[in-house]
Amino acid sequence: MISTSNLRIVSRLNLSRWFVTRSLRTSAITVQNTPKKELADRLRLVILGTGWGSYSVLKQIDKKLFDVIVVSPRNHFLFTPLLCSTTVGTLEFRSIIEPVRNTGFRDEHHFQQAEAVELLPDKHTVICKSTLNGDRYDLKYDKLVIGVGAVSNTFGVPGVYDHAFFLKEISDARMIRNQILKNFELAMQPGVSEEEKKRLLHFVIVGGGPTGVEFGAELYDFVKQDVTRLYVHERCNVRVTLIEARQILPSFDEKLRTFAESKMRQRDQFELLQSSVTQVHADHIQLKDGEKLPCGLVVWSTGLAPRPFTASVELPKNNNSQLIVDKFLRVQGIDDGSVFAIGDCSFIESNPYPCTAQVAEREGSYLAKSMGLSAQGRGSEVEPFSWKNIGMLAYLGDYQGLADFPTSKLQGFKSWILWRSVYFTKLGSWRLRFQVPFDWMRTFIWGRDISQF
Ligand code: FAD
Repeated sequence: MISTSNLRIVSRLNLSRWFVTRSLRTSAITVQNTPKKELADRLRLVILGTGWGSYSVLKQIDKKLFDVIVVSPRNHFLFTPLLCSTTVGTLEFRSIIEPVRNTGFRDEHHFQQAEAVELLPDKHTVICKSTLNGDRYDLKYDKLVIGVGAVSNTFGVPGVYDHAFFLKEISDARMIRNQILKNFELAMQPGVSEEEKKRLLHFVIVGGGPTGVEFGAELYDFVKQDVTRLYVHERCNVRVTLIEARQILPSFDEKLRTFAESKMRQRDQFELLQSSVTQVHADHIQLKDGEKLPCGLVVWSTGLAPRPFTASVELPKNNNSQLIVDKFLRVQGIDDGSVFAIGDCSFIESNPYPCTAQVAEREGSYLAKSMGLSAQGRGSEVEPFSWKNIGMLAYLGDYQGLADFPTSKLQGFKSWILWRSVYFTKLGSWRLRFQVPFDWMRTFIWGRDISQF
């Protein structure tokens, strides 16, 4: 039997659910107030990827004008700026991903869990391969948006694919978290030598960009706040080495970079090494000067390289194998202007922008608007793409951060508050805006969850 108070809770839940759904729908409201066309009359828009760029197109495209099909090996959007926090359990994996089916796919629009493997621009066709059953099929398009992102660059260093971890996807974060916890448990096994314990608990990060630095920051917090509590005897064996051939955080202001470097150097058992890795083995890495560093985990985060699909497309590319696009984001080499590329896989020759979520998201929303105008016969109103840097943030661990804005440079505790506040507001849905602070609070009160699965 349902009591009156239960009924009240149920109706409140329904009301809040209605409110949240309404808010989500309103935030995805289309650019123009256009009459709905019959499905057969709509242009077929194929979007490749569900990352920052593609997801932004998907959320903002006028679905009354386009028959939208999204193809991606991943059925969710990933909020990458908080990915490092999931590698040690500060945040949980599902707190930073959003299923794409929550974004208007309940009726005639489609999501296909597959990857694009070949582009035939003359036939307006992409050949796709299902990531579920391996089937290959042809997909026709009127307009195509390529937003497949990029992978980490290994610079041809032997052993990286076999022995190192990347940090790009939620599955990478899960593997890293399990490996860290496994190494702690292995170090606690009876009979393990001191030398082996030191190897298992030596974590190496290759690459001093924002991803490498933020992963180091999360590891530092984990060691300081949880290892001291849960693996008391192993605390002294933990060591973290961040290897960077040049300088850390190269895109940040020099003053902030110096602050970050001095913070890291102050930390016990944390080392900043200026060198490069020439080979990765199962139990050690080799440096340029021939030195061998025994270690239990290597996280590789150095630059970007093209996805196999981007590499396979025979169209003009720059030195980094990114597709060259014009200032309207149209891929060069395709005369009818039916193919666009956005985000990390693309390069605006006339005005190059950094490979960041900020740029990819802006490009996606620009494209949604410009394609909407063109489909309404108002193409002449479309302005070239432009982007203004609104600033960069990074977390350094121990409640310290960096905020590099065009007009001001902040460091320390205030920047950490800013870092959390900005990313909290940027989270794409109310569900995530609820889950992320909840995880932060849970970690603060009870510590990180160290279960392996
Ligand atoms: P992605 O977001 O990588 O999305 C690519 C999509 O394409 C994915 O859905 C993928 O599954 C899909 N795909 C791949 N291959 C195919 C295929 N063959 N066919 C179809 N789909 C395919 N940027 C910031 O601005 N601020 C930050 O704080 C920040 N922090 C970061 C932290 C980490 C750990 C990482 C890894 C990146 C961070 N970035 C940050 C960079 C930012 O995430 C990228 O620049 C951004 O994701 C690029 O967006 P994208 O749409 O080009 O590609």
